[in-house]
Amino acid sequence: MTSLPEIIRKKRDGLLLTEAEIRTVIEGITDGSVGEEQIGAFLMAVYFQGMEPEETVVLTRAMLESGDSLTWEGASLPIVDKHSTGGVGDKISLPLAPALAACGVGVPMVSGRGLGHTGGTLDKLESISGYQTRLSTQEIKEIVQDVGCVICGQTERIAPADKTIYSIRDITSTVESVPLITGSILSKKASAGLQALVLDVKVGEGAFMNDMAQARTLANSLVRVSNGLGIQTSALITEMDYPIGRTIGNALEVIESVECLKGEGPHDTEELVCALGGELLHLVKKVQSPEDGFKAIQKTLHDGSALQRFRAMIEAVGGDPSVCDDPTSALPKAPKLEEIKAPSKGFVKHISSRELALVALELGAGRNRKEDDVDPAVGLEILVSRGESLEQNQPWIRVHHRNNLNSDHIARLQAALSTSHDMPSASSRILEAVR
Ligand code: URA
Repeated sequence: MTSLPEIIRKKRDGLLLTEAEIRTVIEGITDGSVGEEQIGAFLMAVYFQGMEPEETVVLTRAMLESGDSLTWEGASLPIVDKHSTGGVGDKISLPLAPALAACGVGVPMVSGRGLGHTGGTLDKLESISGYQTRLSTQEIKEIVQDVGCVICGQTERIAPADKTIYSIRDITSTVESVPLITGSILSKKASAGLQALVLDVKVGEGAFMNDMAQARTLANSLVRVSNGLGIQTSALITEMDYPIGRTIGNALEVIESVECLKGEGPHDTEELVCALGGELLHLVKKVQSPEDGFKAIQKTLHDGSALQRFRAMIEAVGGDPSVCDDPTSALPKAPKLEEIKAPSKGFVKHISSRELALVALELGAGRNRKEDDVDPAVGLEILVSRGESLEQNQPWIRVHHRNNLNSDHIARLQAALSTSHDMPSASSRILEAVR
């Protein structure tokens, strides 16, 4: 067996590692026999030298096998999921999981909490009174069989090697490595025993990847490695300069999700739900093309069948289903509202997602450290759409806060809006598909 220093030296010098060598590293990380200094050195070697797709498949499989996985023998539904690399106002999972369930696929969506300026799906759902995100493997399976979908948190036993690796990546400046990001995301997603996966790779100022070249590299790696694990996978690269939909903040995003499930959501939110869902329906051959899948998902948003699954999912995890009838009354509300007005007349050209997300975070909608609590009620409601004409002094954003909105926040929100004299042309968020 190759020794750890020898494996690190091989990667440091740009050589390919064998399956046995990669497994030695991951198994040693999982049982605690590899020291943190060796893990750090290995990660830095991968950071500089990269990994071939075949090596990344082995790395991901070894990380996946460091913990438990769901199995679905005898299940009548194809099992699918979506993963987003993280956006601003990204509530897409909430309407997407029940819409997919209404189309006859099973969705065990194991999600995370937010850290930094992008929000977490679990934080949004926990603004619904009683919603339990900690479920056992057996509960996840039963709810998926009965309702078709469940959105919940990950257990300690999912890809434990990733937990150790991620915490060391964080302190050794090795987070931004495509094979390490690929292994981290896919080892957790694959543990749900998926047949198909769609990835929403966000690109732009509010995203992890700021330019198209980086986004393509990550999307290609994720698709290739996930297919290598035996999961039918495609990715959509989607624009993340402008916030998604009309809301940023936990309860506010649940309200928008319910609107979307009633066929009354903002155009871009609905488009993302339908396009990502359409990819999955096509991957599991429920439809002939992603376009047919788009229409099938859209139908469930407009005929009430997706909302019915959302209600059943909330009931199954102990949440208050009245959020489906009157979300504004059922969810926590911030005590203060303040509208910010447009300084001049013009068409809405751009709203900086990053700046809005940072203000929402400072108002309490997000967390800087894992231990922080989020405030479900605070956030931002965007009152105008891209391309819409604005009059001088017309309110364009409503801030929901707890008396902590200060003059610096207001100045930054004002600076986040750009207008122009000419009407900007309409554009889609879906930039490219990687299949
Ligand atoms: N999300 C993850 O789970 N891991 C990464 O490395 C990056 C994003």
